[in-house]
Amino acid sequence: MKVPFADLHLQYLSIKDDIDAAIAAVIKSSAFIRGPFVQKFEDEFAAAVGAPYCVSCANGTDSLYIAMHALGVKPGDEIITTAHSWISTSETITQAGGKVVFCDTDAKTFTIDTAKLEEKITPRTVGIIPVHLYGQPANMGEIMAIARKHGLWVIEDCAQAHLAEVDGQMVGSFGDAASYSFYPGKNLGAMGDAGAITCKDKSLADKMAMFARHGGLTKGEHRIEGINSRLDGLQAAILSVKLSRLAEWTAKRQEVAARYAAALGNVGGLELPENAPGRTHVYHLFVVKHERRDALAAHLNEHGVQTVINYPVALPFLPAYEHLGHHAEDFPNAFHNQSRILSIPIFPEMTEEQLGYVADTVRGFAA
Ligand SMILES: *Cc1c(COP(=O)(O)O)cnc(C)c1O
Repeated sequence: MKVPFADLHLQYLSIKDDIDAAIAAVIKSSAFIRGPFVQKFEDEFAAAVGAPYCVSCANGTDSLYIAMHALGVKPGDEIITTAHSWISTSETITQAGGKVVFCDTDAKTFTIDTAKLEEKITPRTVGIIPVHLYGQPANMGEIMAIARKHGLWVIEDCAQAHLAEVDGQMVGSFGDAASYSFYPGKNLGAMGDAGAITCKDKSLADKMAMFARHGGLTKGEHRIEGINSRLDGLQAAILSVKLSRLAEWTAKRQEVAARYAAALGNVGGLELPENAPGRTHVYHLFVVKHERRDALAAHLNEHGVQTVINYPVALPFLPAYEHLGHHAEDFPNAFHNQSRILSIPIFPEMTEEQLGYVADTVRGFAA
C-alpha cells in the first residue's frame, strides 16, 4: 500500500465542480487583480477567524514582512522569535531591517518557551513573533503578558494554524497582527502562492494594504513607496470555495490525530505530539519523535509511507545564521528535536485503511 504525505488532487476532486465554476467566473469577468473575488475572500476570511480586518497579499512570507514594515521596524530593532520554524519567520525580520533574536522551544509543544522569553528582551527589543507550529497554538496567555509588561508588539505566525484556538479564542486575535499562508499544502491552501494578514486596528490595516499595493489604497494613489504583493482573483475565488470546507477538514485532521494517538500511544521509543491543555491543535502536521528517526523514516518509506522532516535543521543552526555564532547549548530543545522529529501523513481525505496501514507500519518498526 502507498500512503502519500498529503493528497491535494484528491481534495480537488472532492470539490471539483465548485472550484471549476469559481475559476470560470473569475476568467469570465477578468477580475484577475483585486476586484470582487479578492474583496469577498478578505471579508469571509476575516469573519472566519473573527478578525475586524484582513489584508490579503501574495504569500505568507510577505504577510510577515508587510506586518513588520507597517509596525515601523527600523535598523537595530530586535525581534524575538522561535528557534524552530520555517525560515520565513526569521528571514522577514532581517528583510524588514530588524535583528533576529532566537528563543528556544519548550520541551513538549515545539512552540516558543515562555520561560526563556523574558531573558531575551533588551532595551532594543520591539516585538515578538510566536509561531503556532504544526497547528498547535503557542502559549499566548504568557506571551501577551510578557509583551504588555515590556511594551512590545506581537505578530502571530498562523501559517500552520488556521482556526486553532486557545481557551476558545481563535489564534491571530491575541497579538497586534496575525500572518497567514495559503501555500497549497497548508490547512487552507490556494492553487499557487497566497497570504493574508489580519488585525484589529484600522490604521494598521490601511498601512499594510497601502504598503502591499504600491503605497496607495486607490488606483493612482502613492502616498508612500510600497511593494507589489497582491492576492490574485483566481486564488481568492479558489480560497473562498475551500474556506467553506475548512472547519470540516480541520475536524477530519483532528480525528486522524486522535486515531493515531490511540493506535500509537504505547509504542516503545515513540513520542507522540503533546497537546497542551486549553490549546486546540489543528494538526497541520503530525510530528512524532524517535531516537532512531532516520531508521524509522527509511522503514516507512520502504513500505510506501511518505514522510517529511519539518525541519531538519533548527533556524539558529542553518548556514544562513552562522554569523550569529550559536551553539547547540544555546537552544537545547530545538537542537534535541531536530534529529528526532518525523512528520507522518495526515490529511482530511485520509482513509481508514491508510491510517491503519501507517500505524501498523510504525508499530512494525518498533517490534
Ligand atoms: C508556510 C509558512 C510561512 C510562509 O508562507 P509562504 O506562503 O510559503 O510564503 C511562514 N511561516 C510558517 C511557519 C510557515 O509554515
